[in-house]
Amino acid sequence: TATESRNFIEQEIEKDLREGVYDHVCTRFPPEPNGYLHIGHAKSILLNYGLAQKYNGEFHMRFDDTNPTKERMEFVDSIKEDIQWLGADWGDHLYFASDYFDVMYECAVKLIKKGKAYVCDLTPDEIREYRGTLTEPGKESPYRNRSVEENLELFENMKNGVYKDGEKVLRARIDMASPNINMRDPILYRVAHMTHHNTGDKWCIYPMYDFAHPIEDAVEKITHSICTLEFEDHRPLYDWVVRECEFDHGPRQIEFAKLYLTNVVTGKRYIKKLVEEKIVDGWDDPRLVSIAALRRRGFTPESIRMFVELCGVSKAQSSVDYAMLEYCIREDLKLKRPRMMAVLDPIKLVIDNYPEGEVEYLEADNNLENEALGKRMVPFGRELYIEREDFMEEPPKKYFRLFPGNEVRLMNAYFVKCTGCEKDENGNVTVVHCTYDPETKCGTGFTGRKVKGTIHWVAAPTAVKATVRLYENLIDEEKGVYNKEDGSLNLNPNSLEVRECYVEPNFQDAKAYDSFQFVRQGYFCVDSKDSRPDALVFNRIVSLKSSFKL
Ligand code: ATP
Ligand code: MG
Ligand code: MG
Repeated sequence: TATESRNFIEQEIEKDLREGVYDHVCTRFPPEPNGYLHIGHAKSILLNYGLAQKYNGEFHMRFDDTNPTKERMEFVDSIKEDIQWLGADWGDHLYFASDYFDVMYECAVKLIKKGKAYVCDLTPDEIREYRGTLTEPGKESPYRNRSVEENLELFENMKNGVYKDGEKVLRARIDMASPNINMRDPILYRVAHMTHHNTGDKWCIYPMYDFAHPIEDAVEKITHSICTLEFEDHRPLYDWVVRECEFDHGPRQIEFAKLYLTNVVTGKRYIKKLVEEKIVDGWDDPRLVSIAALRRRGFTPESIRMFVELCGVSKAQSSVDYAMLEYCIREDLKLKRPRMMAVLDPIKLVIDNYPEGEVEYLEADNNLENEALGKRMVPFGRELYIEREDFMEEPPKKYFRLFPGNEVRLMNAYFVKCTGCEKDENGNVTVVHCTYDPETKCGTGFTGRKVKGTIHWVAAPTAVKATVRLYENLIDEEKGVYNKEDGSLNLNPNSLEVRECYVEPNFQDAKAYDSFQFVRQGYFCVDSKDSRPDALVFNRIVSLKSSFKL
């Protein structure tokens, strides 16, 4: 199977172990705590954690909190919760990059002393201009040849708050003519008078990602620093920092392609806008693909692991169909969850020859494919609710459900024959009438005759009223995610439908995150935010029909 063969990262790791480059494996997941994690991050988490498991190594959880502008503690907590939920266990290896600010500062001083870094007074615009382009080499800064002494003094001044934001930066002294623009004296440190959530006001200079990240990896003795493809061009700089700072351990950066899902929104900027404009109900709105949203919708860690494994790891950019994620949750829940009856668009069915006031309890299997889930008793009586679409006064061809004169099976119960219906003054059907045949009781082995249709139902007197939310894609798939003219999102106006429905009383004890198969309607999960014991709210995770084939 796909999971037994080795992906390209595993091949590289095994080569490194074989050749003695490393004698152990240590990976990390380094999120910036500036937002909620999404399905793409799940891939990175499970990949890094999985590799550590597979090679008996270590997995580090590290908050890459070196940029104080956008980071918040709220996100630290949500990220931890999401990672734990996914099942990645960092043990006692929880780190904050900001704990290494002293080490980073020392590294910068070392580079200055080696003549490998200098303080530059050019403005951000000038630096950009001097940097050149892909076809044009860069121009050296007039401050590039400052003496070591002067650089040490200016850098210390930077640290001591002598300069305003943007007035001076520390730059690596590499090569302004390098074909790789990242190597043209990149910025290592900038001045930013800001309070950091961890270090407070201790620092007014902060390291840039390309400088900080390799140091974080080297300090923690990470062996394989796995990141996404857009950092491939940064690898020479990553290696330069590790080498020039003279770490005794050199981590190795390996890049893989980001996970993209078709027709979903993952960009933080867009999700933020949807949240702020109240188009969605927070970062965990079940229509989103943040990990919190997937959890709330009813996805399981197992289904996400299966999904990530099916996606595989590659260097080639591609998009995965959302239907594959749906396939995974169906596969996971199929044998695990009970199959119960709920009527989402109720209309009353009266069995005119059934004794008035009588209630009988009928046995029903909880899961036809998994006997271990046992059986339950479902109340039955003279008045039931059925789906409105399961009755038609004038049926088209091949309609095998209820219509005058036709007989169907009520699931787990009896055959009933439709005798007619009642309507209101507008001609809408309000009640369907039928008669039942006591001989045909389910489980008695009745073989006298056959019917073509089976419909589900809920007994009216004991039915529990509940709310269901049916989802469609947040994005109008025909139009694509973004509007070509103004970059706005092409939203699907029907992405959420809320319905009042009836469920069988066996649902009464359903708790947040419990999930069920609603017969013929799909898998549903009790909403963790809005459901109450006396007012259940269910989110449809996925319908039963699939367009996806493995
Ligand atoms: P976004 O742009 O969606 O916010 P990010 O890369 O800025 O993502 P980080 O917090 O920096 O978010 O990411 C933490 C880790 O997750 C990084 O190692 C990054 O490479 C990885 N990652 C982010 N997005 C994806 C994705 N779509 N697929 C796989 N890995 C991802
Ligand atoms: Mg980010
Ligand atoms: Mg990032």
